[in-house]
Amino acid sequence: MRKINTRNFRLATRSTPRDVNRRIVLNLIREYQPISRAELARRMSVRRGTLTTLVRELVESGIVFEKGTAATPRGRRPTMLCVRTRGRLVVAVDVRSGRSSIALSDVGGHMLAREVFETPASPNQLADLVACEVARLLKQHAPNGAEGCQGIGVVLPGMVDRKTGRLIYAPRLGWRDVDLRAAITSRLGMKVYIESAPIACALARLWLEPEATRSVNSFAYVSVSEGIGVGMVVNGEMLRGESHTAGEFGHVSLDSSGPECVCGRRGCWEALACNAASVERYARKLTGATTQEDASRRARKATFPGIEEVVRRARGGERAAVDALVETGGHIGRGLALIVSAFNPGRIYVGGEITEAWELLEAPIRDALVAGTMPGRAGATPVVPDSSLAEYRLLGAVALVTAPGYAALAVG
Ligand SMILES: [Zn+2]
Repeated sequence: MRKINTRNFRLATRSTPRDVNRRIVLNLIREYQPISRAELARRMSVRRGTLTTLVRELVESGIVFEKGTAATPRGRRPTMLCVRTRGRLVVAVDVRSGRSSIALSDVGGHMLAREVFETPASPNQLADLVACEVARLLKQHAPNGAEGCQGIGVVLPGMVDRKTGRLIYAPRLGWRDVDLRAAITSRLGMKVYIESAPIACALARLWLEPEATRSVNSFAYVSVSEGIGVGMVVNGEMLRGESHTAGEFGHVSLDSSGPECVCGRRGCWEALACNAASVERYARKLTGATTQEDASRRARKATFPGIEEVVRRARGGERAAVDALVETGGHIGRGLALIVSAFNPGRIYVGGEITEAWELLEAPIRDALVAGTMPGRAGATPVVPDSSLAEYRLLGAVALVTAPGYAALAVG
C-alpha cells in the first residue's frame, strides 16, 4: 500500500489504462518468450480479442516480433511473440578508478564489442573520451549508426542524484558534484543514464534476469571491487532514500581502530573488505608486515599482484592467499549482517573479482552473517555470487537504459 503524495503526483490520463496493459503484455512476452497469443491471453485471463490491439502496437513499434516456430501435435504452427533485441543497441560504460570499460550491447545484454581504457583524471576528459568511443563503436558495429541506439548507460563508483543525474561524490575518483550526464549528452545528443554501480547491478538482476530464476522481489546487490557499494531492491523497486544515498553500508565503520578509509574514517566495511584490503592482507601474510599501513606500502613498492592474481593463487592452494581471502570473507559477512538486519532481503548477490574464489569465501561469509544477526532465519539469507563476473557492471549500465521501457507506470 503506497500513500499518494499530495505534493508530487501524476494524474492518470485517457491513455493510462492502455499504457499499463501494454507494459504488462510486454513484460509477459519477455518473461515467457516465445509465447503465443493464446497462451498470453490465458496468462492474463482475458479473451484473445482484447489482446489484439496491444500486441499489434508492440509489433508495429518494433519492440516485439512474430516468429512461427512452435509445432503443435495437430501440426498447426501458431505465431509466437518475442521481444526484439537485434538491432536495438545500448552503449554501456563502466567507470572505475584505474581502468574503465565501454561496450556496445543489445538491449538483452549480449555484448557485441568491448574496449578497456585508462580512466581519465577529470570528468570532462572522460566525457570527451566516451563521446569519441561511442562514435567509433557505432560506426564499426551498428549498421544504422546512432539510429538503433537506445541510449548510453554509465555506472560510476559513487553516489548519484537520480533526478538531476549529478554525481554527488566518488571518493576513489576524487570527483565531487559533477554533471557528467549533461557533459556526455551535450557531446553526443543521445539519452544518457547515470547511476552508481551497485544500484545499476541490482537493476540488472531485476530487469535482465528472468523472474523464474530470480524468484525474489526484495534483494540486495553487493559490489565488491575498488570500493564496496550496495543496491537494495524492495518489492521490485530500488530503495534510494530521501537524498539518493541509501545503501552506503561501505562507509559504516565496523572497527574504530581499523585501517584508514578513503573517506577519512577508520575501519569502514569498505576499508576492511574491498579488493585493495584483500591484496594488502595477502601482502602482509606473505611479507610479515605488522600493520595494514606497512603492508600497503610494501604492496605498492613491490608492485604486488592485483586481486585477480591473489584469487588465482588462493584457488591454487597457496596458504597466504587462502588465509587472506578467508579473512576477507569474514569481513564481507559482517557487513552483510547489517544489510540483512536493515531490510530482510530474500537474497544477497555478491559481485566482483573476488567471487571467483567463492568456494573459499562462502563459509566465512555465512559464519559472520550468522554471528552478526539475531538468532532465527536472518542468518540463513541466501548469499550467491553474481555469475556474470566479467561484465556485471556493464550489464548494470545496459539495465539503466532498458529498464525504463519495462517499468510499471508511475501514476498517483
Ligand atoms: Zn569509509
